[in-house]
Amino acid sequence: MFVLKKRKYNWLDMWLMPFRCAPVSTVGVTAQKLITALANVFQVIVVAEFLDGAIQAVASRHFDSGIMVWFVLMLLIVSWKRISYHVGNLFTDHVTMHGNEQIAMELTRKRDRMEYYLLEDPKIEELSNRLSGKLEYNLHWNLQWFLNLFAINIPRIVGVLLIMSGYVWWLSLVVLALTVPLFIFSLKSGKKVYQAFEEAAAYERRHKYLFSVLTGRETTEERSLFGYTGQVNEQWHQQFECAVKQDIKSEMLFMGNSLRGTTINGVLSAVVVLIMIPLTVSGRLTAGVFISLVTSMYDLIDIMGNSTAKAVNRVAMAQEYMKDFTTFAALPEREDATESVDADAAGNDRPTVMEGQVQGRETAGTAAMGEYQKQRRIPELKELEFRHVTFRYPGSDVDILKDFSMKLENGRHYAIVGENGAGKTTLIKLLTGLYREYEGEILYNGMEMRSFSREEWFRIFSCVFQDFARYYLSVEENICLGMGGMDFGEAESPERKRERISRMEGAAKQLDIHDYLCGLKHGYETRLGKLDEDSVDLSGGQWQRVAMARALMNDAPLLLLDEPTAALDPISESRLYEEFGEISRNRTTIFISHRLGSIRLADHIFLLKDGCVREQGSHEELMGLHGIYANMYETQQSWYTEDKAEETESIAAAAMV
Ligand code: ADP
Repeated sequence: MFVLKKRKYNWLDMWLMPFRCAPVSTVGVTAQKLITALANVFQVIVVAEFLDGAIQAVASRHFDSGIMVWFVLMLLIVSWKRISYHVGNLFTDHVTMHGNEQIAMELTRKRDRMEYYLLEDPKIEELSNRLSGKLEYNLHWNLQWFLNLFAINIPRIVGVLLIMSGYVWWLSLVVLALTVPLFIFSLKSGKKVYQAFEEAAAYERRHKYLFSVLTGRETTEERSLFGYTGQVNEQWHQQFECAVKQDIKSEMLFMGNSLRGTTINGVLSAVVVLIMIPLTVSGRLTAGVFISLVTSMYDLIDIMGNSTAKAVNRVAMAQEYMKDFTTFAALPEREDATESVDADAAGNDRPTVMEGQVQGRETAGTAAMGEYQKQRRIPELKELEFRHVTFRYPGSDVDILKDFSMKLENGRHYAIVGENGAGKTTLIKLLTGLYREYEGEILYNGMEMRSFSREEWFRIFSCVFQDFARYYLSVEENICLGMGGMDFGEAESPERKRERISRMEGAAKQLDIHDYLCGLKHGYETRLGKLDEDSVDLSGGQWQRVAMARALMNDAPLLLLDEPTAALDPISESRLYEEFGEISRNRTTIFISHRLGSIRLADHIFLLKDGCVREQGSHEELMGLHGIYANMYETQQSWYTEDKAEETESIAAAAMV
């Protein structure tokens, strides 16, 4: 089993990684390559003996039955070489499949355990893409080239050289002395080739992204509206040209290395053959040995010049790839990550901070769901408080929240408003535990949130973000994923399934999309998105409602809406917020928006400016202050007038249908 550990990964991991993932098959393919290499070496002796025996038989006109033994051995070697390739492929396919699965899972687990600020870092994203992007390809070829080098080429070269030295001791030393510089050269140039390919990959990523902007569905409206196709097209062309040029450069570098290796070894082989001729004439080598060695020397030209140079290059490239693994594995993880993963793996019911405080929050769910919720130990929310919180992003010297204080009580609807850049999303990131390095306190029922495990922290919130996910899965999965970690696969009992379905339909009804979803070809089993012919893509408004239904599936005590309706026009947004407020009447909710018309029904509004609360109270109270809120509200009022409503009616209709 492969486990990504904090250690130095190197070229040995080209073999060790597959071995950890599929030990039997890795040993199998290694044995297959070694036997093939030894068969090739043995072939030199067998052919020489057979030829000498045959020449002897012809010269003396006496047939020795011993020749037949060499002949049969020759046949066996040739047959093995034919079938061994296929045997090797069977093992390699098995290794690649299992390796890909296990390593991909480990990379995902690592990403899951990483500090959130690392996930926001584009360099880490690139590193992660480099590792996962061509994982299967790298795994396959790393093992192949490792075995080509260490299980085939080197044993074969050493074997043939040993046999050579058995006949004329200094001959193999000459060959060896000439080969060593080539190895050193190949190792160095391999690094350059990897870097060149890495550069090409960066261009490729950029032009692929620009291509998606030019052709993607998500950008269709803006593409037509802003008419930027020509400009982006030009950029795409530039990146594409650079990618092609860089790709050619990398390939040329790779080819140049191989060619140089082949040429040097060709010359080397010719020199050795020329040296062997006088030795044969003088009788130190028999005719059979000469022919056999010359034949294998020509084989060696390919092995040493072409295949070995490539393999050494590949090992050097893999060394660079492994450095990426070392860097990735060493990335810091959240303090509680290892603990929670271990607990998960062991299936432990770890004692939690919240234990003892849980009051079995009775939800709309039934007994089965209740049991599930109990396992999740959702604590009753009494009070949530930000007390003098100051926060800045890692690596930045600007405080985004400054001595920020705010208090929320159970069952009320709150809104956080402010202009773009005021710190609303940052506040949510702190609230949801994505960033845990802050000054001051965030208290849940009087307990500092940092003392909670990440899992506990996450159980407190159910969120719908501005860039909520659109899963290209079934409608059912899209909604039920909101139950967080609840398995609704084959292991699910019929009773629990019934409860889950009724809950899912309830959420869809509340959001007024049940009838529409039932009317789809396969009802709730219809696949959403654009992956299959059979799948259905939803409008922006419908996706939003599905995302909100997903949030309703979770009985978390706090419901967060971080401008999930920002893509809608103000009036549609306002309606959706009103509906949602109605649905979640007895739950504590936090609505985030920069449009004030949508949140005026909230019980309490916090106005954020420059990282702190500048005004707070109900809509009426804030209007009465005649301050920033009132000013903003009046400025935005035209967005909600009837004229505007008519104007936006068609847009709203298009978005919701
Ligand atoms: P809002 O949601 O109110 O529009 P944000 O919370 O997204 O505002 O951003 C507040 C400030 O924090 C902005 O100046 C933004 O540039 C900065 N910011 C947001 N994310 C990061 C980050 N990952 N690293 C550094 N600064 C950030």
